[in-house]
Amino acid sequence: MNLSRRNFIKTVSAVTAGTTILPNIAIASIMKPIKSKKLKLTFRTYELQLKHTFTVAEYSRDTTPVVLTELEYDGIIGYGEASMPPYLGESHKSVTSFLSKVNLSQFNDPFRIDDILTYVDSVDKKNRAAKASVDIALHDLIGKIVNQPLYKLWGLNPDKTPVTSFTIGIDKPDVVRTKTKEAKGFKVLKVKLGRGNDKEMINAVRDITNVPLYVDVNQGWKNKENALDMIHWLKEKGVIFIEQPLPKENIDDMAWLTQNSPLPTMADEAFQRLSDVAKFKGVYSGINIKLMKSTGLREAHKMITVAKALEMKVMMGCMTETSCAVSAAAQLSPLVDWADLDGNLLISNDVYEGVKVIDGKITLNNLPGIGIRKL
Ligand code: MG
Repeated sequence: MNLSRRNFIKTVSAVTAGTTILPNIAIASIMKPIKSKKLKLTFRTYELQLKHTFTVAEYSRDTTPVVLTELEYDGIIGYGEASMPPYLGESHKSVTSFLSKVNLSQFNDPFRIDDILTYVDSVDKKNRAAKASVDIALHDLIGKIVNQPLYKLWGLNPDKTPVTSFTIGIDKPDVVRTKTKEAKGFKVLKVKLGRGNDKEMINAVRDITNVPLYVDVNQGWKNKENALDMIHWLKEKGVIFIEQPLPKENIDDMAWLTQNSPLPTMADEAFQRLSDVAKFKGVYSGINIKLMKSTGLREAHKMITVAKALEMKVMMGCMTETSCAVSAAAQLSPLVDWADLDGNLLISNDVYEGVKVIDGKITLNNLPGIGIRKL
């Protein structure tokens, strides 16, 4: 009696435990016709149209080139994206040329994420956005195979996603006021500075709203003492942190500024990958992680862990991207202090529907993988 009851419990437990992941794979294998038991990567170029001309300290532009990837395994398709704003040095040509060299057909198990992405990283030294486009597609694929959103696989609480800022580019005061009005509903704005009209920009925003502000200088300030004066003024105006105030090469000036600044300083252009994080401890208060710099989600996740261990602040940012890369980054967002994930909201020709901004907050959905579907 006891024995059979124990066996019964054991059987029920095994079935219950098993239903979490394995049967989904088994069911997927039974239901779907077997297409290819190897990983198959395809890609196409695409041009994002920006709703407004985007002006930062260094340049203006109306479009952003991207490459959209698809990674297929056994009839299931994961989506990925590379976005190439000009200052990163990648282009349609460099990304497609890199992806043509990537041979994923040598892998027949998509769950070997480390093996696969270590191989992709070894194909060439640079090409960070191109690598991200494979990383994102692979993570999306894995999530779809086990039929779970990535944030769940990582054990994250979707209620802990941050609010996201909406970016106001450098412009004349009346345009800034119009853009600020359009950003109604966002709980925080990110204002681009560094072209000599900083106070005019902030005052124009403050004509319209009192929400907290992030400031991104994009290396536009050249003198550390002037930078410190401006940061004191910005603090009085309700600014939360200052991103990349000085040129990325000015490490000593930057360390001095961070030491004296009444607001946290965040590294963006200065750093790219995991190996850069530790060396900026003491130089900046924190880091702005973007998937197009970090080569994707695998390394971004590690960067967050390292930065937190070093007691540095963490921000999750993006380029102008479709909802693909933005939704991928959003899966990690419950872990970060601040988020600037508005890249998909700045374009007029998105090709996916993904995570949403609701009442200013990044809102994850229950779709598997990175949480997107094709429009
Ligand atoms: Mg920035």
